[in-house]
Amino acid sequence: MTKVIGFHYTLKNDAGEVLDSSIGHDPMLYLAGSGTILPALDEAINTLPIGEKTSVALLAKDGYGEVNPAYKMNVRLAQFPPGTDVKPGLQFKINDEPASPMFRVINVLGEEVFIDGNHQLAGVNLNFDVEITESRDATADEISHGHAHGAGGHHH
Ligand code: ZN
Repeated sequence: MTKVIGFHYTLKNDAGEVLDSSIGHDPMLYLAGSGTILPALDEAINTLPIGEKTSVALLAKDGYGEVNPAYKMNVRLAQFPPGTDVKPGLQFKINDEPASPMFRVINVLGEEVFIDGNHQLAGVNLNFDVEITESRDATADEISHGHAHGAGGHHH
């Protein structure tokens, strides 16, 4: 039987810095095996009972992947559409292909723009502190939609 799992999490890097947390928000709610969360994290927690607390350590390759140097590049300011406010943090796609990564502007130096298409957590080992808040059988609707319904899950 496919499960729906709810959990609170705090994500830290190896230095112990908090990168993300659900504390203060709804717990994350997801359909086991649906690819909604990192598969390695899903596998580690989807059989745990409600109330269980655990820590899950994932290497970068099992998280958001290693840094791909080919996705770090310099482009020219003139390559952006006229009128674009090119500044650090701007996100954009280079083309419309679904597999094309989302690039971020890291820095602008004169006519040169340094961009990076790696996920912000690429190359980062992930340390999750997890507390299971929900564990139940998925409904037929959830299974056919491929996601969990309810607070912290998918809203229609
Ligand atoms: Zn749905």
